[in-house]
Amino acid sequence: MDEIQTNNICREKRARPGSPRLCIETISTFYGEAKALDHISIEVHSQEVVGILGSNGAGKTTLLKTVTGLLSPRSGRILFEGASMEGKPCHEIIKNGIASVPEGRELFGSMSVIDNLLLGAYLLTEQKRKEILASRLEMVFSLFPILKERTKQKAETLSGGQQQMLAVGRALMSNPKLLALDEPSLGLSPILVSEMMKTLKRICDEWKVSLLLVEQNARAALKIADYVYLLERGSVALSGMCRDVISSSTIQRAYLGG
Ligand code: ATP
Repeated sequence: MDEIQTNNICREKRARPGSPRLCIETISTFYGEAKALDHISIEVHSQEVVGILGSNGAGKTTLLKTVTGLLSPRSGRILFEGASMEGKPCHEIIKNGIASVPEGRELFGSMSVIDNLLLGAYLLTEQKRKEILASRLEMVFSLFPILKERTKQKAETLSGGQQQMLAVGRALMSNPKLLALDEPSLGLSPILVSEMMKTLKRICDEWKVSLLLVEQNARAALKIADYVYLLERGSVALSGMCRDVISSSTIQRAYLGG
């Protein structure tokens, strides 16, 4: 393991600002008998962008699926603001404040932009929906003005970048405290990647939403991450504050061409 920081929760608490919002404690997740995550511990603090890096097959998507309820860990705990999340169904996890932007976006292509956005809010109670729907839409349109111009357009006719904006916007409609994103840069041009990363940072800074950001594009993720975990073969190989990790030989060699 790289010496930047061992995967030790107590040491992290001293080093990182804010309080832990999401605590993943020694979880192991399997596909059948194949172990994909091996005793992983990860924290996401309030108002923090946490980057999850790693090569193909490292376990990044499995981690997100475990956090968002698509997979159940065989052991370990997932606490969100103190409440147990492991084994809960996806809709319960969303109600607790964790929304996800899956790889490939999973939009409803034949539905309009506005209907996709409204679907993002469908798990809110009727009362809550009444209270916040207009302000949520306003928030999404302030982050992604192009979506406001295209409310009636079918999602499948949007460009790749616009579809990614819609996927993020839809997740924000559920009023989350934490957004879990799987490769939001995938398939986007370098300029769009840079714009998307800046917007994600705004979502964290201005809207106080914590981000758990899975990325193969380490260069992009490291631009906005506060804290970073590097996964290798289902384990945390390195973790640390972004400013420390970025200069480590492991990251430089493997991801930044150093
Ligand atoms: P990528 O960036 O390529 O998506 P990743 O870091 O997200 O990689 P995962 O998709 O989480 O990695 O895969 C972790 C391990 O679990 C890999 O060994 C992979 O082959 C295995 N795996 C993933 N999905 C399944 C599945 N549905 N059934 C069996 N094994 C799987």
